[in-house]
Formats: sequence, C-alpha cells, structure tokens
Amino acid sequence: MPARILDGRAVSNELRAELLVQSGQLRERGIHPRLVIVLVGENEASVAYVRNLVKVGENVGVAVHVDELPETATASAVRERLERLKDDPKVHGVLLQQPLPAHLSIGTIADSIPMRKDVDGSHPGSAFVPATPAAVMLLLERSPHWPLRGRNAVIVGRSVVVGVPVAKLALSHDATVTILHSKSASLQPYLSMADVVVAATGVPGLIRGADIKSGATVIDVGTTLVNGELKGDVDFDSAVKVAGAITPVPGGVGPVTNVALLRNVMKAAADAGKVRSRD
Ligand code: NAP
Repeated sequence: MPARILDGRAVSNELRAELLVQSGQLRERGIHPRLVIVLVGENEASVAYVRNLVKVGENVGVAVHVDELPETATASAVRERLERLKDDPKVHGVLLQQPLPAHLSIGTIADSIPMRKDVDGSHPGSAFVPATPAAVMLLLERSPHWPLRGRNAVIVGRSVVVGVPVAKLALSHDATVTILHSKSASLQPYLSMADVVVAATGVPGLIRGADIKSGATVIDVGTTLVNGELKGDVDFDSAVKVAGAITPVPGGVGPVTNVALLRNVMKAAADAGKVRSRD
C-alpha cells in the first residue's frame, strides 16, 4: 500500500481555518491577539521567516509586529526591549527570533522574555510547547500511529530545540522513546524496530527506505539547502515505498511550524482574557 503523505500545507490550511474562527471569537470579547517578534540583525533566513509569520498572522487574525534591533545591539538593550513588553496588555506573545548575532547568547537573555508571553517556549518552565516540536506532534496526530501509547518512537537528533523536546513530548504520550545522535554506534537496529521515526539532524538523505520498518510513520524535520534545493534527512523516494505515512520536504513540518506558533499566541490571548475577566 502506498504511504499516506502527511501534507504539511494541507494541515496548515486546516489549522489556519480554526485559528480564524478563534480570533473572531476573541475579537468579539474585545481581545485582539498580538505577537511581538524581537529581531536582532538581519539574518536572511530569519527575515524570511518573520515576513512569512506577518503574512500568515494577517490571514488568521493575529497582529504580528516586528521590533527590529541592530546587529550590534548589546545584551542589555535586547533584555530591556523584552522586559518592556511584559506589562503591555495589548501584547499576548513575545518571540526572540533566533539565531542571535554571535556576540549574544540566548542562555543569558531568555529569562527576560515575559514568562506568560513566552509563546516559543524559550524558558525552561514555559507552559508553551516550542513551535517545531509542536508541529511534529500535530503531524503525528494525523498519522496511523496516533495515539503514540506503546509505540516504539525513535528520535534521530538530540538538540535542545528539536530532538529533546520531541522525545519528551512522545514520552508524555506514553511512547517507548529512543534518542539517537551522531555518537550512536549504529542507527539501523533502532530504526528497523521503530513504529515512528522523527529525523532532526540536518544530514540530507541520512535515512533510507531500507533502514525503516514497513508501515512506519516518518516525520522529517531536516531542512538543508543542497545546490539551492531544500533537502530533508530522509531519502523520500526510497522511504515512501516502505513507510506507512511520511512528511515531504519541503511541504511537511515547515508549513505547520509557524501555525503552531500562532496557535500558542491565540492561547496566550485567550488566557489573558480569562485573567482579565477574573480581575
Ligand atoms: P542541530 O542542533 O545541529 O542538531 C542536530 C542533531 O543531529 C544533533 O543532536 C546531532 O548529534 C545529530 N546528528 C548529526 N549527524 C548525525 C548522524 N550522522 N547520525 C545521527 N545523528 C546525527 O540541529 P537542529 O537545530 O536540531 O535542527 C535539525 C534539522 O532540523 C536541521 O536541518 C534544521 O534546519 C531543521 N529544522 C527545521 C525546522 C522546521 O520548522 N522544519 C525547525 C528547526 C530545525 P550530536 O548531538 O551528537 O551532535
């Protein structure tokens, strides 16, 4: 049987339609969901990502404002800008766009992001799931292996932004979780037993059809530019013949990521409304 293609653009459209309804309901209560992105410098990929978020925000009723700081901004200038947003009742979500310029470190700045507004989960204690891991879960929810309870889930990659949070989320859904990384002796024995594979390494074509179990669900987070073309960690052409469900690259995790972030802004706005109505 051919694999089910987990089409990120279709999922994104479905989620956007839900968000549009929710923003309409909030507006009726006088709440206008608003995200402020603090952008330091002009990293090309960041500028493109932020521009896209503004556009998607407009479509779903979330105002996205970009607060630009120069490449040379000091850590205290960035902190001050973030802290100023804490008490602004019109701002529901605050995102510090990464990567930061080389002289700045997220570790020393993240605690200035107002906790209740930390919609990209940069604080260790944030109530919000960061956008990329949230997008992985939204795609898994639409796979034949959902619910994850009792499934063997193999996460390839252990970064703090993708691999580890995805592993924790899968564990919280009662999957049996294995994390592989660049020092793992071999990937294949684990991959061959996995019901669910999430690849987040940035190594194009690392995982091939012959490596995975027949019928597995494969979520490919990897995005690497190879000769101007975006490539995933999974060799799609061979894997699609073996998998039960698979995300393409591009058009898989990427399009769901920014909608996952806007969902968090919507939740923050709704929560702020609840706090206000209790006051
Ligand atoms: P990262 O910080 O570079 O982490 C890569 C991870 O992959 C590391 O844990 C590394 O192991 C592991 N790895 C590298 N080579 C490996 C190999 N040969 N076998 C097994 N594991 C290997 O990258 P990241 O930020 O997590 O991003 C991963 C990929 O996802 C990138 O392509 C990135 O562009 C993409 N991404 C996509 C989205 C989206 O929305 N679609 C969002 C974020 C990231 P060690 O820990 O041992 O070094």
